[in-house]
Amino acid sequence: AYADVPLVVKGLRKEYADGFVAVKRVDFEVRPGQVVGLLGPNGAGKTTTLRVLMGLTQPTAGEIYVFGHPLVPGSPVLSRIGALVEGPGFLPHLSGLENLRSYWRATGRPVEDAHFEEALEIAGLGDSVHRKTRKYSHGMKQRLAIAQAMLGLPQLLVLDEPTDGLDPPQIAEMRRVLKRYATDGRAVLVSSHLLAEVEQTCTHAVVVNKGEIVASGPVDEIVGESPSVQFDVTDP
Ligand code: ATP
Repeated sequence: AYADVPLVVKGLRKEYADGFVAVKRVDFEVRPGQVVGLLGPNGAGKTTTLRVLMGLTQPTAGEIYVFGHPLVPGSPVLSRIGALVEGPGFLPHLSGLENLRSYWRATGRPVEDAHFEEALEIAGLGDSVHRKTRKYSHGMKQRLAIAQAMLGLPQLLVLDEPTDGLDPPQIAEMRRVLKRYATDGRAVLVSSHLLAEVEQTCTHAVVVNKGEIVASGPVDEIVGESPSVQFDVTDP
């Protein structure tokens, strides 16, 4: 089951060591071609959910399937997930491309599996990949970070707050980047605390509050019709 589905999350629960339940119960799917926005206010449990999906922390309960394979510690399906947790540091004296090459080398995977050109093209960095990253704007660094998460062209791209700190033109560019990526059976999952950003960049939304889903579906339905997304999803 789910062999063609990039991500299935069932009954996810995460209780931290101090007893705090950050994720009470979360169920959702990400299908090929979708750009799904995990939307909710600060503290809703978005980062915790994404960290579980990236294999960085273990869930207390629940099941996760990536193309039908259970996601468990050390699972080979982890290599099918490309992740961006927070803006990675880039070496300022190296170009964007050199930074990505050095990152990929450290993964130990074969260079021909990286697909540098395709990742950079999807990320829309153009000729600036040859410039030193110390000359990059915040938006360019963000796109380079996303290009890095795209290396190897993972079938599921998971990005935590990729539009954070970007201005409207950069958000519009981000939408094009994510839509370009979510083709050829691939899909994207992004988190955001801003309804407008999810509306602009995603095809679908999963709205979470206090560790539970309060609405989910295509963005146009969520934005237009769901009274449950009237909670505070504005900037803090
Ligand atoms: P943000 O946008 O602020 O990152 P979020 O929706 O991503 O919000 P999480 O980061 O998942 O939310 O945090 C959910 C809750 O879990 C928060 O109240 C946070 O304080 C708590 N939390 C996070 N990490 C831990 C931890 N290691 N131990 C205990 N509680 C934690």
